[in-house]
Amino acid sequence: MVMNPRIGIIGGSGVYNPELFTLDRKVKMDTPYGETSGDILVGSLAGVPVAFLPRHGEKHQFPPHMVPYHANLYALKQLGVEMIISPCAVGSLQEEYRPGEIVVVDQFIDFTKTRDYTYFDGPQTVHISIPEPFCPELSRLFSQAADELGIKAHDKGTYVCIEGPRFSTKGESRMFRNFAEIIGMTLVPECQLARELGMCYVSLAMITDYDVWKDNPVDLAMVLKTMGDNLYKVSQLLEKVLPQIPPSRRCSCAEAADVEV
Ligand SMILES: [Zn+2]
Repeated sequence: MVMNPRIGIIGGSGVYNPELFTLDRKVKMDTPYGETSGDILVGSLAGVPVAFLPRHGEKHQFPPHMVPYHANLYALKQLGVEMIISPCAVGSLQEEYRPGEIVVVDQFIDFTKTRDYTYFDGPQTVHISIPEPFCPELSRLFSQAADELGIKAHDKGTYVCIEGPRFSTKGESRMFRNFAEIIGMTLVPECQLARELGMCYVSLAMITDYDVWKDNPVDLAMVLKTMGDNLYKVSQLLEKVLPQIPPSRRCSCAEAADVEV
């Protein structure tokens, strides 16, 4: 039996790769925040125990604004997961961020509107500190691995998270281009909930299209094709990085939620 994993992978569309991942068991978990978006698949990838959770559910039944983010993160934490690796699909807001490339996200801007953003709704008041929202150690490992594998990846990029499920208007897209490189719908509140629970979080964003600013409207078929053609890069990165993750954490992600007022 594979031991309880320290690493959780919350995957978007198509990230689960049965050729790479050896399934040991399926875990169903109920939490004070309801059920997770699917069974947690515990197994090993490149010889390393991991827990895989399909973000949008096994049948892709949860659109971005309905994903049970609180339950997902809480359940992984209960399982003993300390770090979250989060591959996702994004649109590009800048010419030089091209479809098929990967961004190791380093900042986000939150343009969501109706989500629950915290585990701390009182009476305990907690303000987490996230000037650097992502784990520096994991981000460094993935950027380095991309270099070594010859995979075109950007080691910086600001992700603007919109509510969805609709895509942006041209007006919105033009505005976002002033301060961000990529755009998606799932990063918030996922990454900040991970930080509240003291877990490391790294976002591997696969660029699938140029957002609507570029005069060629986002087309779902194209998004899926680019995703399918480039997913092997995410697999290669996981295969290389997982065995390199040190047995104890060298970052301060675990301490972010200690700020209490
Ligand atoms: Zn960390």
